[in-house]
Amino acid sequence: MIAFLGGTFDPVHNGHLHAAGVAAEALSCPVRLVLSAHPPHRAPPEASAEQRWALLELACAAEAGVDADDVEMRRVGPSYTVDTLRALRLRHGGEPLCWIVGTDAFNDIHAWRRWREVLEFGHLLVLPRPGAVLEGAALKFYREHRCPDLERCPAGGIRLLDEAMLPVSASAVRALIAGGGDAGHLLPQGVTAYIRRHGLYARSD
Ligand code: ATP
Repeated sequence: MIAFLGGTFDPVHNGHLHAAGVAAEALSCPVRLVLSAHPPHRAPPEASAEQRWALLELACAAEAGVDADDVEMRRVGPSYTVDTLRALRLRHGGEPLCWIVGTDAFNDIHAWRRWREVLEFGHLLVLPRPGAVLEGAALKFYREHRCPDLERCPAGGIRLLDEAMLPVSASAVRALIAGGGDAGHLLPQGVTAYIRRHGLYARSD
Protein backbone atom coordinates (compact mmCIF):
# COMPACT_ATOMS: atom_id res chain seq x y z
CA MET A 1 0.00 0.00 0.00
CA ILE A 2 1.11 3.54 -0.76
CA ALA A 3 -0.98 6.50 0.42
CA PHE A 4 -1.13 10.03 -1.01
CA LEU A 5 -2.35 13.22 0.63
CA GLY A 6 -3.07 15.79 -2.06
CA GLY A 7 -3.36 19.48 -1.29
CA THR A 8 -2.70 23.06 -2.21
CA PHE A 9 -0.35 23.30 0.78
CA ASP A 10 -0.53 27.10 0.85
CA PRO A 11 1.34 26.54 3.18
CA VAL A 12 1.84 22.96 4.42
CA HIS A 13 1.13 22.98 8.19
CA ASN A 14 1.23 20.72 11.25
CA GLY A 15 -2.34 19.57 10.57
CA HIS A 16 -1.23 18.05 7.25
CA LEU A 17 1.77 16.32 8.84
CA HIS A 18 -0.29 15.01 11.75
CA ALA A 19 -2.92 13.71 9.29
CA ALA A 20 -0.21 12.01 7.20
CA GLY A 21 1.18 10.36 10.35
CA VAL A 22 -2.23 9.09 11.45
CA ALA A 23 -2.89 7.70 7.96
CA ALA A 24 0.57 6.06 7.81
CA GLU A 25 -0.12 4.31 11.09
CA ALA A 26 -3.67 3.27 10.18
CA LEU A 27 -2.57 1.81 6.84
CA SER A 28 0.96 0.73 7.88
CA CYS A 29 2.42 2.34 4.78
CA PRO A 30 4.42 5.37 3.60
CA VAL A 31 2.56 8.58 2.79
CA ARG A 32 3.45 10.93 -0.06
CA LEU A 33 2.25 14.55 -0.09
CA VAL A 34 1.12 15.53 -3.61
CA LEU A 35 1.24 19.25 -4.39
CA SER A 36 -1.65 20.48 -6.51
CA ALA A 37 0.16 22.93 -8.79
CA HIS A 38 -3.09 24.21 -10.37
CA PRO A 39 -5.99 23.46 -7.96
CA PRO A 40 -9.16 23.53 -10.09
CA HIS A 41 -11.81 23.98 -7.35
CA ARG A 42 -10.65 27.03 -5.44
CA ALA A 43 -9.22 30.54 -5.65
CA PRO A 44 -5.60 30.66 -6.92
CA PRO A 45 -3.09 30.02 -4.11
CA GLU A 46 -1.20 33.01 -2.66
CA ALA A 47 2.24 31.41 -2.94
CA SER A 48 3.56 30.20 -6.30
CA ALA A 49 3.75 26.48 -7.06
CA GLU A 50 7.56 26.69 -6.75
CA GLN A 51 7.32 28.33 -3.30
CA ARG A 52 4.71 25.82 -2.08
CA TRP A 53 6.88 22.98 -3.38
CA ALA A 54 9.93 24.36 -1.53
CA LEU A 55 7.84 24.53 1.68
CA LEU A 56 6.62 20.98 1.18
CA GLU A 57 10.14 19.64 0.64
CA LEU A 58 11.34 21.39 3.81
CA ALA A 59 8.45 19.94 5.82
CA CYS A 60 8.94 16.41 4.49
CA ALA A 61 12.71 16.47 4.99
CA ALA A 62 12.10 16.86 8.73
CA GLU A 63 9.38 14.17 8.95
CA ALA A 64 10.15 10.43 8.87
CA GLY A 65 8.00 8.32 6.53
CA VAL A 66 6.56 11.29 4.61
CA ASP A 67 7.82 12.44 1.20
CA ALA A 68 6.84 15.13 -1.30
CA ASP A 69 5.54 13.85 -4.66
CA ASP A 70 5.70 16.03 -7.79
CA VAL A 71 3.31 13.95 -9.95
CA GLU A 72 0.92 16.92 -10.37
CA MET A 73 3.74 19.47 -10.70
CA ARG A 74 4.95 17.73 -13.83
CA ARG A 75 1.54 18.00 -15.56
CA VAL A 76 0.27 21.12 -17.30
CA GLY A 77 -3.32 22.26 -16.75
CA PRO A 78 -5.62 21.73 -13.76
CA SER A 79 -4.69 19.04 -11.20
CA TYR A 80 -7.70 16.71 -11.30
CA THR A 81 -7.50 13.85 -8.77
CA VAL A 82 -8.84 11.26 -11.22
CA ASP A 83 -5.99 12.05 -13.66
CA THR A 84 -3.44 11.95 -10.86
CA LEU A 85 -4.67 8.58 -9.61
CA ARG A 86 -4.60 7.19 -13.14
CA ALA A 87 -0.97 8.32 -13.47
CA LEU A 88 -0.14 6.82 -10.07
CA ARG A 89 -1.79 3.54 -11.05
CA LEU A 90 0.45 3.38 -14.16
CA ARG A 91 3.47 4.17 -11.99
CA HIS A 92 2.73 1.60 -9.26
CA GLY A 93 1.17 -1.33 -11.19
CA GLY A 94 -1.13 -3.54 -9.09
CA GLU A 95 -0.07 -2.17 -5.69
CA PRO A 96 -2.94 -1.00 -3.42
CA LEU A 97 -3.10 2.83 -3.59
CA CYS A 98 -4.98 5.14 -1.28
CA TRP A 99 -5.91 8.82 -1.68
CA ILE A 100 -6.24 10.58 1.69
CA VAL A 101 -8.77 13.35 2.05
CA GLY A 102 -10.26 15.39 4.90
CA THR A 103 -14.04 15.41 5.43
CA ASP A 104 -14.25 19.03 4.20
CA ALA A 105 -12.76 18.12 0.82
CA PHE A 106 -14.58 14.77 0.65
CA ASN A 107 -17.95 16.50 1.13
CA ASP A 108 -17.32 18.26 -2.22
CA ILE A 109 -16.39 15.06 -4.07
CA HIS A 110 -19.46 15.26 -6.31
CA ALA A 111 -17.88 18.41 -7.83
CA TRP A 112 -14.62 16.62 -8.69
CA ARG A 113 -14.06 15.72 -12.33
CA ARG A 114 -15.34 12.16 -13.06
CA TRP A 115 -15.46 11.60 -9.30
CA ARG A 116 -16.87 8.08 -9.30
CA GLU A 117 -13.92 6.92 -11.46
CA VAL A 118 -11.49 7.79 -8.68
CA LEU A 119 -12.25 4.42 -7.02
CA GLU A 120 -11.24 2.54 -10.19
CA PHE A 121 -7.65 3.63 -9.59
CA GLY A 122 -7.36 3.70 -5.81
CA HIS A 123 -9.03 3.67 -2.39
CA LEU A 124 -10.08 6.69 -0.36
CA LEU A 125 -9.16 7.23 3.29
CA VAL A 126 -11.31 9.95 4.85
CA LEU A 127 -10.04 11.88 7.88
CA PRO A 128 -12.48 13.69 10.19
CA ARG A 129 -11.56 17.37 9.84
CA PRO A 130 -12.79 19.43 12.82
CA GLY A 131 -16.09 21.13 11.99
CA ALA A 132 -16.86 19.07 8.84
CA VAL A 133 -19.32 16.17 9.16
CA LEU A 134 -19.90 13.79 6.23
CA GLU A 135 -23.08 14.68 4.36
CA GLY A 136 -25.01 14.54 1.07
CA ALA A 137 -23.54 12.72 -1.94
CA ALA A 138 -20.27 12.09 -0.09
CA LEU A 139 -22.04 10.28 2.76
CA LYS A 140 -23.99 8.14 0.25
CA PHE A 141 -20.78 7.37 -1.71
CA TYR A 142 -19.07 6.36 1.53
CA ARG A 143 -21.95 4.06 2.53
CA GLU A 144 -21.90 2.40 -0.91
CA HIS A 145 -18.15 1.71 -0.85
CA ARG A 146 -17.35 1.45 2.87
CA CYS A 147 -14.42 -0.96 3.42
CA PRO A 148 -12.52 -1.36 6.69
CA ASP A 149 -9.73 -3.46 5.14
CA LEU A 150 -8.32 -1.51 2.17
CA GLU A 151 -5.13 -3.58 1.97
CA ARG A 152 -7.01 -6.56 0.52
CA CYS A 153 -7.34 -5.13 -3.00
CA PRO A 154 -5.69 -2.41 -5.13
CA ALA A 155 -8.66 -0.01 -5.34
CA GLY A 156 -12.39 0.54 -4.82
CA GLY A 157 -12.96 1.02 -1.06
CA ILE A 158 -13.55 3.94 1.28
CA ARG A 159 -12.46 3.92 4.90
CA LEU A 160 -13.38 6.60 7.42
CA LEU A 161 -11.07 7.07 10.41
CA ASP A 162 -12.36 8.36 13.73
CA GLU A 163 -9.10 9.78 15.13
CA ALA A 164 -9.25 13.49 15.98
CA MET A 165 -7.35 15.74 13.57
CA LEU A 166 -5.64 18.99 14.57
CA PRO A 167 -7.74 22.16 14.28
CA VAL A 168 -5.26 23.83 11.91
CA SER A 169 -5.96 25.17 8.42
CA ALA A 170 -3.81 26.93 5.84
CA SER A 171 -6.34 29.77 5.63
CA ALA A 172 -6.01 30.36 9.39
CA VAL A 173 -2.21 30.34 9.05
CA ARG A 174 -2.36 32.87 6.19
CA ALA A 175 -4.78 35.10 8.10
CA LEU A 176 -2.59 35.00 11.21
CA ILE A 177 0.54 36.00 9.28
CA ALA A 178 -1.33 38.68 7.28
CA GLY A 179 -2.50 40.16 10.60
CA GLY A 180 1.10 40.38 11.79
CA GLY A 181 0.81 37.35 14.12
CA ASP A 182 3.21 34.49 14.71
CA ALA A 183 2.11 31.16 13.16
CA GLY A 184 5.23 29.29 14.28
CA HIS A 185 3.29 26.94 16.58
CA LEU A 186 1.18 25.76 13.60
CA LEU A 187 4.07 25.10 11.20
CA PRO A 188 7.21 22.96 10.91
CA GLN A 189 10.31 25.03 11.81
CA GLY A 190 11.82 25.07 8.33
CA VAL A 191 8.49 26.23 6.88
CA THR A 192 8.28 29.15 9.31
CA ALA A 193 11.84 30.20 8.45
CA TYR A 194 11.19 30.06 4.67
CA ILE A 195 7.94 32.04 4.99
CA ARG A 196 9.72 34.76 6.97
CA ARG A 197 12.70 34.84 4.62
CA HIS A 198 10.50 35.28 1.57
CA GLY A 199 7.88 37.52 3.19
CA LEU A 200 5.10 35.10 2.22
CA TYR A 201 1.48 35.76 3.26
CA ALA A 202 2.34 39.17 4.75
CA ARG A 203 -0.26 41.80 3.87
CA SER A 204 1.06 43.85 0.94
CA ASP A 205 -0.93 47.09 1.52
P1 ATP B 1 -7.24 26.03 3.21
O1 ATP B 1 -7.51 26.47 4.63
O2 ATP B 1 -6.47 27.03 2.40
O3 ATP B 1 -8.46 25.51 2.51
P2 ATP B 1 -6.22 23.44 4.11
O4 ATP B 1 -5.62 23.67 5.45
O5 ATP B 1 -7.58 22.81 4.03
O6 ATP B 1 -6.20 24.81 3.27
P3 ATP B 1 -5.28 21.98 1.83
O7 ATP B 1 -3.93 21.99 1.25
O8 ATP B 1 -6.37 22.59 1.05
O9 ATP B 1 -5.16 22.62 3.29
O10 ATP B 1 -5.70 20.50 2.26
C1 ATP B 1 -5.23 19.35 1.63
C2 ATP B 1 -5.89 18.13 2.24
O11 ATP B 1 -5.51 18.02 3.61
C3 ATP B 1 -7.43 18.16 2.22
O12 ATP B 1 -7.90 16.85 1.97
C4 ATP B 1 -7.78 18.60 3.63
O13 ATP B 1 -9.04 18.12 4.03
C5 ATP B 1 -6.66 17.95 4.43
N1 ATP B 1 -6.36 18.68 5.65
C6 ATP B 1 -5.98 19.96 5.77
N2 ATP B 1 -5.81 20.28 7.06
C7 ATP B 1 -6.09 19.19 7.79
C8 ATP B 1 -6.11 18.89 9.20
N3 ATP B 1 -5.84 19.82 10.12
N4 ATP B 1 -6.46 17.64 9.56
C9 ATP B 1 -6.77 16.70 8.63
N5 ATP B 1 -6.76 16.91 7.29
C10 ATP B 1 -6.44 18.14 6.88
